[in-house]
Amino acid sequence: MKTFDWIVVGGGLAGSALSYELARTGFSVLLLEDSPAPSNGTRYSYGGIAYWSGTTELTKQLCQEGIEIHRHLSSELEADTQFREMQLLLVIDRDRDPETIAQQYQQFSVTPALLTPEAAKAAEPLLNSEAIAAALLLPHGHVSPEATVKAYNQAFLRAGGVMQIAQVTGLARMGDRIKGVITPTQIYEAGNVAVCAGGLSRALLKSVGISTRLYFTQAEIIETPPAEVQLQTIVMPAELKRFEMEAIAGSADQDALWDQPGHEVVSPILDIGAVQFQDGSLRIGQVSRTLTDPTAQADTSTSEASLRQAVGHFLPALKQLPGQWSSCLVSFSGDRLPLVGHFAVAEGIHLFSGFSNPFALLPSVARRFAQAAAGTTDQPDPLLAQLLPDRLI
Ligand SMILES: Cc1cc2nc3c(=O)[nH]c(=O)nc-3n(C[C@H](O)[C@H](O)[C@H](O)COP(=O)(O)OP(=O)(O)OC[C@H]3O[C@@H](n4cnc5c(N)ncnc54)[C@H](O)[C@@H]3O)c2cc1C
Repeated sequence: MKTFDWIVVGGGLAGSALSYELARTGFSVLLLEDSPAPSNGTRYSYGGIAYWSGTTELTKQLCQEGIEIHRHLSSELEADTQFREMQLLLVIDRDRDPETIAQQYQQFSVTPALLTPEAAKAAEPLLNSEAIAAALLLPHGHVSPEATVKAYNQAFLRAGGVMQIAQVTGLARMGDRIKGVITPTQIYEAGNVAVCAGGLSRALLKSVGISTRLYFTQAEIIETPPAEVQLQTIVMPAELKRFEMEAIAGSADQDALWDQPGHEVVSPILDIGAVQFQDGSLRIGQVSRTLTDPTAQADTSTSEASLRQAVGHFLPALKQLPGQWSSCLVSFSGDRLPLVGHFAVAEGIHLFSGFSNPFALLPSVARRFAQAAAGTTDQPDPLLAQLLPDRLI
C-alpha cells in the first residue's frame, strides 16, 4: 500500500488550498472529502476577501499576501475563480452613532470612507437610505467560493495529487504517532495528516484523544437563483455581532461544553448581509448559532422569515426573491486567529482550520505552511510561528 507524504482531510477552501500547495511543493498528497457536493462553510460563503482587515503586523502581512495571490490565482490555477475588486458597504443602524463606529475601524490597515445615507445610496442604489444613519465603504475582493475550490482541485490533480470521496471515520494512531486515516473501506497511510474538516475537525481529533480549542457555528442563509436585481456592492452591518459571539462561545471556560451535544453556548445572532455573484444569484445571510451538536436542526421557517425581514429593512428589493434556505457549519477559534500547525501530543498530526477571515488569509497561510513543511527555508516561518505556540490545545 502506498504511503503518502500528506493526507488532507476535508475539501473546503482550507483543504483545497492546502492540498494544492503541498502537491505544488513536491509532496505526494491524498485529499479526502466526505461528499461529492459538500454543504460546507465554503459552499454557502459570500466569498468576500477582507484584505483591508489586518490589525497586527502578522495579519496585515498575511492579508496583503492573500490579496496578491487572489489577483493572480486564476492564471496560476488555469481556471477562473471569478475574482473581482468590489466595494463593501457596511451599514450603520439609524439609532447608532456613525462617528463612534467609524473610529473603531481606524485599527484596520485600510480605513473606510464614512458616507451619508445619500452617498451610500449612490454607491448601492438598492439600499433603503432611510434605514441607516450612515455607512462605511471599503475596497473588498470577491471570488466565487465554488469556482475557487474547483480551480484549486483541478490544479492539485494536475500537480499529481490524488482525490477520493470518502468519509474519514478515524485516525490511525500507533503510540505517539498518527500513521494515517481510517475510512469505511480502507486505511490510508501517510507521514503527515492535516485536518481541514471545518466544524467537524474538533470531533475527529477528539476521537484520538486530542483536544483543541476549535468551535463551530451553524450558519443559516437564503440562496437565490439568478435574479434581475443588480446589487452593486457587498452589504453587511458595520457592527458584526458574530465576532463578539465567537469570543464568548470560544472562551476557555466554555470549552468543556463543546464536547457535550445538546447545549447552546450563547444566544443566536443575526448579522444581515447580501452578495450577488457573477451569474446573478444571491446569498443572503446570516443567522449564527452555537449549538454543540453539529447535526442539530434549525427551525427553518422562523430562520428564513427573520432573514427576509432583516434584509428587507436595508435592501427592500431582496425581501421577496425566491430562494432556498440552507445551513452549514463554520469553524472558529477562541482568538480570531486560525489554528494552524502540528500537535505536540502526537507526531504527524496537523490542524488547519478556524479561520475567521479565510478568503483573505488562507491562500498565503497555505503557501507558507507547504514551504515550511518542505523545509525550503533555513529558519521556521516567523509568521506561522506566531500562530503556533500553545494555541492548538
Ligand atoms: C453565509 C456565510 C458567509 C461567509 N462569508 C465569508 C466571506 O465573505 N469571507 C470569508 O473569508 N469567509 C466567509 N465565510 C466563512 C468561510 O466561508 C468559511 O469559514 C470557510 O469557507 C471554511 O472553509 P473550511 O475549508 O475550513 O471548512 P468547510 O468549507 O466547512 O470544509 C470542511 C470540509 O471537510 C469535510 N469533512 C468534514 N469531516 C470530514 C471527514 N470526517 N472526512 C472527510 N471530509 C470531512 C466536509 O465535508 C467539508 O467539505 C462565510 C461563511 C458563511 C456561512
